[in-house]
Amino acid sequence: MHPTTPYQRNAHEELTALLDAVTEYAEERIRMEPPLDRPRTQEDLDATLGRTITAAGVGGAEAMRLFADELAPACLSTDHPRFLSFIPCAPSDAAVMFDLVVGASSIYAGSWLEGSGAVWAENQALRWVADLVGMPEQAGGAFVPGGTIGNLSALVAARATARHRAPEGVRPWRVAATGGAHSSIASACEVMDAELVGVPADDLGRLTGPALRALLEAQGPETFFAVVATAGTTNFGIVDDLASVAEVCRDLGVWFHVDGAYGGAGLAAPSVRELFAGVEHCDSFIVDPHKWLFAPFDCCALLYREPGLARAAHTQRAGYLDVLNEAPDWNPTDYSVGLTRRARGLPFWFSLVVNGTDAYTAAVERTLEVARFAEEEIGRRPHLELVRERDLSVVVFRRLGWTPAQYQAWSDAMLADELAFVVPTTHQGETLARFAIVNPATTEDDIRTILDTMDEDPAGLIAR
Ligand SMILES: *Cc1c(COP(=O)(O)O)cnc(C)c1O
Repeated sequence: MHPTTPYQRNAHEELTALLDAVTEYAEERIRMEPPLDRPRTQEDLDATLGRTITAAGVGGAEAMRLFADELAPACLSTDHPRFLSFIPCAPSDAAVMFDLVVGASSIYAGSWLEGSGAVWAENQALRWVADLVGMPEQAGGAFVPGGTIGNLSALVAARATARHRAPEGVRPWRVAATGGAHSSIASACEVMDAELVGVPADDLGRLTGPALRALLEAQGPETFFAVVATAGTTNFGIVDDLASVAEVCRDLGVWFHVDGAYGGAGLAAPSVRELFAGVEHCDSFIVDPHKWLFAPFDCCALLYREPGLARAAHTQRAGYLDVLNEAPDWNPTDYSVGLTRRARGLPFWFSLVVNGTDAYTAAVERTLEVARFAEEEIGRRPHLELVRERDLSVVVFRRLGWTPAQYQAWSDAMLADELAFVVPTTHQGETLARFAIVNPATTEDDIRTILDTMDEDPAGLIAR
């Protein structure tokens, strides 16, 4: 006798039970105020759960119980309003719900032939982003898993283009950026065996045209295949001087890539839009809607001014793919590293359609308002000090008199209490506190509550 296959098993009454269990859980998670939760150790999970994958299977009810009772509480809720570490993820209800629909739909979104409806909708969402940036009508790209793959894909397209245009015998191998550029740029250069050359930042920590021009001219602009400007550095939210950088790139004929993985969302907010002047000249651009545009993981919008250049660099060729490559269709897979793709732009598209773009502007402005409040509140407290004036929604500050160990103990204690998740950062060797505010549910009260824990008696907190 053959064992039942997963399909046969689910075809019976178990399907109904499983469907109820899964949809009830999802519904409850969507409706609830999420708990912050906390990490557990490998040993603890091993001891509690043992082997979960067995020859006979444990059935849906038990599998859901394992997840709901043991595993989910061991995962931090990145959408908790006091999760302010790294860059949180605060998807809209509509986006979360539609993620369930995408998961249920078995859509292959790598090619137009297989996923035309999804690709068409994703392209509308990309167009909204391209309009915020000010990119021309022919601009286009794809949704990729994250900023890391987005940056790598853009740099691969930039290098292929530069090689094609370079004089005989020259193979451009360098990328220019400041030390504030995201770690994924160094990682992409490593993958590509390219050299990342550091440009000195100005007093505000920004990449500027004059410093870039001096470096490119000294080292030979023809040896560079891309300049990476950051529109919102991860640690501080610094927006480079895009207009002057764009001018140098145009003068010297070097590809201008803008990494807006975190900060690109600020384009939707009139109060900070001015900081991005010049972004419209970029050759490629990324923003992660899973950071500050209310989409669930994993979602990065990657755009090219001239998509044909990216297609030339990225299209994979194989006999079994000829049927796709020979059609004049828009195949998202042609614009990035990777072949198979989930329709990961659809939850973002759906939420834009449901809520309208004004709601996005309002939500981004709301987070900026809370960041402004945090900055002011830090200024009002004598034992706290702002490290740098804020460009966007990241606020970095010091607690006067604290050692690195005290910052860590403070952060650990807040997580152990499930009060907040705020890990320290470092800058120029100094340990500091940092808030990244991208969740419209984060309030002034949340900020006050966290800052209160840094008040008079750190010893009491630290001693625990
Ligand atoms: C987060 C971030 C990245 C990397 O994006 P992932 O989605 O984490 O891969 C790249 N650049 C900047 C500026 C970022 O903030």
